[in-house]
Amino acid sequence: MIDARKLVIAIDGPAGAGKSTIASRLARKLGYVNLESGAMYRALALKAIMNDVSFDESAPLLKLAENSKIELQPRIDGNRVLLDTEDVSRRIRERDVTEGASRVSLHPAVREWMVARQRELGVNGGVIMEGRDIGTVVFPNAELKIFLDADPKVRAERRIEQVQAKNPDAAKALAEELKRRDQRDSTRVASPLAPAADAVVLDSSKLSVEEVLTRIEELILERTAAAKRS
Ligand code: C5P
Repeated sequence: MIDARKLVIAIDGPAGAGKSTIASRLARKLGYVNLESGAMYRALALKAIMNDVSFDESAPLLKLAENSKIELQPRIDGNRVLLDTEDVSRRIRERDVTEGASRVSLHPAVREWMVARQRELGVNGGVIMEGRDIGTVVFPNAELKIFLDADPKVRAERRIEQVQAKNPDAAKALAEELKRRDQRDSTRVASPLAPAADAVVLDSSKLSVEEVLTRIEELILERTAAAKRS
């Protein structure tokens, strides 16, 4: 039987679909922890920059990961991220790290290392983890899998608003970066971004945050009731 307080909820989808906002709001409502798996790839990319390690070479990246301590601390507005005890929460959102995360995440060996760490974080349930491969690879048995999507134009607009990119050049660069990352995530050989067969696909293009939350809460109730009946 599913214990309503102990579900594992996977939220996957492309950048800018609203995953982090939904995960943190939902976690607050349910008393769960929200974990941003992308922040772990970002932290590794930052470490690669700091150590002059190429984003494109798997073995040195894996070694770097194995010698790193990456910690996610759930907060109301997202995760505080510690890399070797240093708070890198802001730094990892910058453009060079964003590009690096998208490239380090292509390597199967790096992904394997990340997936093992992420599974440890979800072992007790009561977790909402968001990313690209959570429902397909990290938690294939998650009780609820959401694939949160949105029109690319809407996603770019949201990102632009989020980082307050005021001039048209910065906005254009952001939209292009989003497109490039999407392309890499969806076409990579290892764990490409795609909805799990049993995921509920939600298109948030025309939905408010509240509407998405309401829909997910309905799904949680349905899943819990179905488990009680079986
Ligand atoms: O979610 P976020 O934008 O912070 O993720 C940064 C990058 O990490 C993504 O562009 C994606 O390439 C990668 N990622 C991934 N698998 C995850 C989470 C993120 O490949 N589960």
